[in-house]
Amino acid sequence: MAVKKAHVMVVTPHPDDAEFGVAGTVARWVKEGKDVIYVVCTDGEKGTDDINLKPAQLAKIREQEQRAAARLLGVREVIFLHHEDQGLEDTPEFRKEIVRLIRIYRPDIMVTADPYRRYVWHRDHRITGQVTLDAVFPYARDLFAYPDFLEEGLQPHRVKEVWLWASLDAINHRSDVSDTFDIKLAALRCHESQVGNNRFPRLGDWLRQRAKSMAEGENFELAEAFHRVEITW
Ligand SMILES: [Zn+2]
Repeated sequence: MAVKKAHVMVVTPHPDDAEFGVAGTVARWVKEGKDVIYVVCTDGEKGTDDINLKPAQLAKIREQEQRAAARLLGVREVIFLHHEDQGLEDTPEFRKEIVRLIRIYRPDIMVTADPYRRYVWHRDHRITGQVTLDAVFPYARDLFAYPDFLEEGLQPHRVKEVWLWASLDAINHRSDVSDTFDIKLAALRCHESQVGNNRFPRLGDWLRQRAKSMAEGENFELAEAFHRVEITW
């Protein structure tokens, strides 16, 4: 398996979570010349209240929406794992899938949902975050974690940083998205099945307000906020 180095790997539970969480920062990284790739764990085929929209149809729509958003942001590649929406579990197979991708793409930075957000939190988000953290350390790093990967030529890899979105009370890093906020909003609008049709009538205002409050205390206007972990061991 050939290595396809990327600087940043974003692991998102559903199409659209990455746009809410990190799209402004992704657009900035791309402008700085970094290669960003997306890993989308489920197709989000249960994300509707329209009884006439069949899950298989919605999966196709949401895949297209995610690809359009990624294209707009300049994401190099989008990988769909096609797990069942609302069906993610912390299994050895899922973890191994993420480790395999880390070892192929060898990112410096991983971005995903904070699994430690308390109380009410989407189970798919919690599990995606947890499995990704476990995949980063120790499984992607350790030589003998997966002997079969070594035979395939997938060497261990040390990720340098993990950025977790939706951290709420654990935020320790605010990323300046003042110049890329408009691209973030446009990317979010690509998810028509989620934010269109008056489901989110004041999306732009709401998003800007949120980005403003996340930038509080910083010398820039708009931010995305994270719990950022540097991995030094
Ligand atoms: Zn989600």
